[in-house]
Amino acid sequence: MTPLPPGSTIGILGGGQLGRMLAVAAAQLGYRTHVLAPDAESVAAQTASSFTRADYHSRIVLDELAASCDVVTYEFENIALDPVDYLAAKVPVHPAPAALGIAQDRALEKQFVNDLGGRTAPWRKVTTREELDEALAAIGAPAILKTLRLGYDGKGQVRLASTDDADADAAWEAIGGRPAILEGHVAFDHEFSILLVRGADGGMTSYPPPKNEHVDGILARSTLPAPAAVAAQWTEAAALAGRIADKLGYVGVLACEFFVGTEGPVFNEMAPRVHNSGHWTIEGATTSQFENHIRAISGLPLGDTALTAPHVEMENLIGHAATRWAEILAEPGAHLHLYGKRAIRPGRKMGHVTRLQPIIS
Ligand code: AMP
Repeated sequence: MTPLPPGSTIGILGGGQLGRMLAVAAAQLGYRTHVLAPDAESVAAQTASSFTRADYHSRIVLDELAASCDVVTYEFENIALDPVDYLAAKVPVHPAPAALGIAQDRALEKQFVNDLGGRTAPWRKVTTREELDEALAAIGAPAILKTLRLGYDGKGQVRLASTDDADADAAWEAIGGRPAILEGHVAFDHEFSILLVRGADGGMTSYPPPKNEHVDGILARSTLPAPAAVAAQWTEAAALAGRIADKLGYVGVLACEFFVGTEGPVFNEMAPRVHNSGHWTIEGATTSQFENHIRAISGLPLGDTALTAPHVEMENLIGHAATRWAEILAEPGAHLHLYGKRAIRPGRKMGHVTRLQPIIS
């Protein structure tokens, strides 16, 4: 792919904070960005060069976007496949829609990874209440029932403490009887993620893996360097992420989440996009995940992923935590990012702060 010259336009589907930070990275490299999102108030539109507020399904809007952009990417994986496929026939779309199709369906995703030799929790696809009983008999408890589609940040998930009928009834009702997978509970000490970037020429690099801590299913903190138990599984996990990316002919940043298992890394899920557990890379790595994504989809050489400080920590500012902004700004070595969201709501990602230690002055 010939590199996109500065001044080219990158289309971004989705109007959230990931699109916002992608637009900032694109601007730094001299690119323009065009955000398409249905939101009345898009925080990505605040930093993009242009914004179309529209439904993703309007062919007129998609035609206009394809005509005005040199490449298109997306910032969330729950976008419908139809418009992405439609665009891909008219303009290069990265990552390729095939990656979206897999990441949108937990059963396809787990099967895909198992087929590539990746370790997952034991799982079974469940489409009826009877199949839930069969899956529980095969997998046992504790287990987690996850809707096949549209789950994120722990949403659409129920834990089953036992294989009792009453527990199964309650779990099935809680997910609304929707198609799901039942997964065995993995007893892990740590969670971590591999943030891999694959260039248009197939070259790949990945970041040192952060240890990720979740609270109520939402990422609360990423820390680097990760404990030795994570470091010991880094190579195997990164190799699996590399096989996933190669198999999909992937271009851009791919995030894969893992548990530290007793026998090696246990793959949990992937996101075909930049990821919250990579926000630390803005100040904590030589090249941020956002810049590397833009570089990859624009056919530019990938940037170095090394840490810029011995210790890096990213804390998500969720809900009212963002009201601490003045206090955080007064902290030496703290880098505050607010996403420009007007209303604070519990569980809403309002911003994040990255702390580098020791402070390099
Ligand atoms: P997910 O939406 O699949 O990323 O799940 C959200 C969080 O739930 C994960 O980050 C884990 O903390 C936890 N979780 C998910 N699946 C499992 C599992 N099979 N065993 C133990 N914990 C899990």
